[in-house]
Amino acid sequence: MSIEQELVKRSGNSCELCTSPDDLSVYAVPPSDLDSVDNAVLACQTCLDQIEKKEQLNVDHWRGLSETMWSEYPSVQVVAWRMLSRLRNESWAADSLDILYLDENNLAWAKKTGDHEQDSTVNFHYDSNGTRLYEGDTVVLVKTLEIKGSSLSAKLGTVVKNIRLVQDNNEQIEGKIEGQTIVILTKFLRRG
Ligand SMILES: [Zn+2]
Repeated sequence: MSIEQELVKRSGNSCELCTSPDDLSVYAVPPSDLDSVDNAVLACQTCLDQIEKKEQLNVDHWRGLSETMWSEYPSVQVVAWRMLSRLRNESWAADSLDILYLDENNLAWAKKTGDHEQDSTVNFHYDSNGTRLYEGDTVVLVKTLEIKGSSLSAKLGTVVKNIRLVQDNNEQIEGKIEGQTIVILTKFLRRG
């Protein structure tokens, strides 16, 4: 059986976090790889987008966590714990978090991403025009950049393909110019 088939079976083909039956896919709980069903949860797209901080948290979407956090599967417990932590300003989430017991190993796993230290607000990357940036976007420099200790030419109008968003810094992206990866401030570029 594939990991997906196993997850479908154990979850009864529903999102293991919100119980929705729609738009389900396999989520490897970071920093784990998708090498075992024990590291994965079956989750709907709405949950996934919010877990992965691609969308703002919709508090009401997560109320079911106070039930689903009682899952017997550590991977589900870990995601529930992280999401409840991000929602801790809601009293129901704080209450749930108080009674959700994770054993030592699972608690260490849950803390590994640092998600629990963030609040429910997600800050996105935006270009100089205020347009949201996504992984893999193509951008254009709106200013000629001087790159210290390098002869790279990063002139106004340079196209940078396939950017990476720098985690934990919404004012920075990484991109390749002349084959070299550099960090570029978002205020100096626009989405191509
Ligand atoms: Zn869901």
